[in-house]
Amino acid sequence: MRPSTLRLFAQKHWICKSCRANFSTTPTRAAKKSKPSLPDSPARTRFAPSPTGYLHLGSLRTALFNYLLAKRTGGQFLLRIEDTDQSERTELYKLQVGSLISTGHAYRCFCSPERLDTLARHRHDLGLPPGYDGACVSISKEESEERASKGAPHVVRLRVAEPYPMFDDMVYGKTGQNRAAKHSEVADTYADPILLKTDGHPTYHLANVVDDHFMKITHVIRGTEWMSSTPMHVALYNAFQWKPPQFGHVPLLVEKSGQKLSKRNADIDIAYFRDQQAIMPETLVNFAALLGWSHLQKSDVFSLRELEETFDLKLTKGNTIVAFEKMWFLQKAHAQRYAASGGPMFDELVRLISSAARQELNPEEYSPILKSRSLEDFVSSILREGPRSYTTPVEFIHANKSFFTQTVHREPYVPASATSLDEPSKVPMSALHTAAAALSMVPVSHWNAETHRYNITSYIYTDPSLSADLESKQAQKSAQQLFRKELYHYLRWALSGGAPGLGIPSTMEILGREESVRRLDGAREATKSWASVGKGQRRRVTVQEESGERSNAWMGSLAGASKE
Ligand code: GLU
Repeated sequence: MRPSTLRLFAQKHWICKSCRANFSTTPTRAAKKSKPSLPDSPARTRFAPSPTGYLHLGSLRTALFNYLLAKRTGGQFLLRIEDTDQSERTELYKLQVGSLISTGHAYRCFCSPERLDTLARHRHDLGLPPGYDGACVSISKEESEERASKGAPHVVRLRVAEPYPMFDDMVYGKTGQNRAAKHSEVADTYADPILLKTDGHPTYHLANVVDDHFMKITHVIRGTEWMSSTPMHVALYNAFQWKPPQFGHVPLLVEKSGQKLSKRNADIDIAYFRDQQAIMPETLVNFAALLGWSHLQKSDVFSLRELEETFDLKLTKGNTIVAFEKMWFLQKAHAQRYAASGGPMFDELVRLISSAARQELNPEEYSPILKSRSLEDFVSSILREGPRSYTTPVEFIHANKSFFTQTVHREPYVPASATSLDEPSKVPMSALHTAAAALSMVPVSHWNAETHRYNITSYIYTDPSLSADLESKQAQKSAQQLFRKELYHYLRWALSGGAPGLGIPSTMEILGREESVRRLDGAREATKSWASVGKGQRRRVTVQEESGERSNAWMGSLAGASKE
């Protein structure tokens, strides 16, 4: 006798909202109290993608969580391509199904496709879910053997004698189809899912369970779209008298509106992030790890190694919103880390930026600036100084364009202390020219950011219109502050056309003495008509090249150069 209970046909679909009412996720008291954040023995996990289709963000996240769980517990992680059609393990599945037939947990079903079709239509007309009426359960073992040996086409079905079991999910707690036990006369449905198809190939569910068992998988983390199949998988483990692995289902990835990720919003081959968006591997891994995993660390920025050391099973239940701004935040954060620590990832970034530069730019424009440096060395100095805004190699080249061309595009100069061209500068242009010329006096041997930083910050400006008495001391101090701000502004305009980017001292070092002085001279030419009308007097500055040995004599030697 079979129990007249409603059984839901196990399907590998995401459970719709209305069906979710049939699917309890009531955490047990124990689960509520303390959900294990990690297994206490090494976990053996796997990622089991189907051979078709592309690897998308959700799959990457599943693979990563399984990998991290194995790593964190000192266990093992396996990759298994689930291809049931060309399986080398067909004989194993047949053997296992044979054992289920002999224990009475499975039976051969000889129903013709036409009969099953009529049955399905009838059930559909009655508004019932698909199901099998169990017609072949009563065929005796002997008759079944004989028909099979004569080659009668058949499938093998799991005999589901009881409601599917509940199971303890690592994320959702005690869960399962609690309504499956509800008695209903009309809905006398027997799931009895097919295990072996007519052609002798296993169904997906059989292969999945048998493989996990023989591969000694202890923990399975997979997407919630599999949650409706898990009770059936557990029933199959029970029929085999095997211990099921611990299951943990991770929620769906959704866009901000709550919609499932679509092609338009990046439910696409993850190669897209590398090939089209130049996302670095560690950025993507870090981004995927945060999709549903919550941690107590201060920062969201993790290398793969740090994830391996930190990961646990504090996985969230609600749908996970995928916010791509976070990916760019992580991209910048990792670029900064690489720039600070150097190493192979920094070198790789330099290689990518350099090859983008070769594609995007004309070597005739940047070669004179490089001088004897290789493009890689040059890019590496820019990246080391300015990784904060790094997003992609091409954007990096454009953001730092002024390093790669001798043609500096400068809009007419607007002083920092003025809001329009017509407004007179509060700092005389001649004083800026004098300061720039003084900075240019540093010889090649001392041409580095440290010297420039020191010289700029210690350069003293005295407003000649103010007297030297005590009262105007404060006014002189303000004039000095105003001057320093204007000087930075002027130098940025002179050196990079005003484009934001690296600090002035580093910019001067990377451009080199010759190119920096060329730009400062060009800027002076462009503003020379201003110099004669400013408050200060234009000064003659002799630019001297020191060819001798290195010394720190130039450090601060320009302090007070505009005084005397
Ligand atoms: N082959 C299944 C998929 O591609 C994996 C199911 C599982 O992890 O058990 O989604």
